[in-house]
Amino acid sequence: MDIVLFGKPGAGKGTQAPRIAAALDVPTVATGDVLRGAVRAGTPMGLAAKAYMDRGDLVPDDVILGIMKETLGKGEFAKGSLLDGVVRTTPQAEGMSRVLAELGRNVDAVLVFDVDDDELVQRLGSRTVCEQCQTPYTGRQAGERCENCGGTLMRRKDDEPEAVRNRLAVYQRQTAPVLAWYQEHGTRIATINAVGSVDEVTRRALDALRGAGVGGGEKRR
Ligand code: AMP
Repeated sequence: MDIVLFGKPGAGKGTQAPRIAAALDVPTVATGDVLRGAVRAGTPMGLAAKAYMDRGDLVPDDVILGIMKETLGKGEFAKGSLLDGVVRTTPQAEGMSRVLAELGRNVDAVLVFDVDDDELVQRLGSRTVCEQCQTPYTGRQAGERCENCGGTLMRRKDDEPEAVRNRLAVYQRQTAPVLAWYQEHGTRIATINAVGSVDEVTRRALDALRGAGVGGGEKRR
């Protein structure tokens, strides 16, 4: 089972991904986390990606597809994946469909997180993330400790207002058209209202996926 989590920056994909993944018993791939890890480790890929990320621009498609091909080829992803932050362009949708086809799979559903821009700007303005495990928090200060791993919370450079404005524009220009591509290719698309408590949004996500015919046999929590 391969599911794409889709939505604007700050829509809650990163908060919900581990919960949905646990319920459906499939691992998550978050391209943003992979890229930030590469930046921290100072690898050639990280060095090349950093400038795009700091501005809020998208990293080139061939880099993303390279990451996905390598990641999905690993044994732990043999039964599926929850894709957080990829697919973000139409060429990525096409490329991912080829990567999955080589594994005898395809995208089973796209789950769209719907939140309006004012709410997103507010959320990202008060977001911190754990520098170690990347867990996102709203309303917690940089320097506080992560509840998940004890790491230090920090502000993301691309959550500053100018980069956020650019990320929303990039979403409209490059990412929003991906939904039409999936529609044309007959992929099931489920949309949820992603404003609400974390538990509420998880419930809506799992209900919507069940409605789209995936995740019926999820693990009990
Ligand atoms: P995220 O953590 O998903 O908000 O991603 C942070 C940044 O990483 C984005 O603003 C992009 O610069 C880059 N990035 C993550 N995923 C992708 C992707 N699928 N395609 C292109 N760039 C990406």
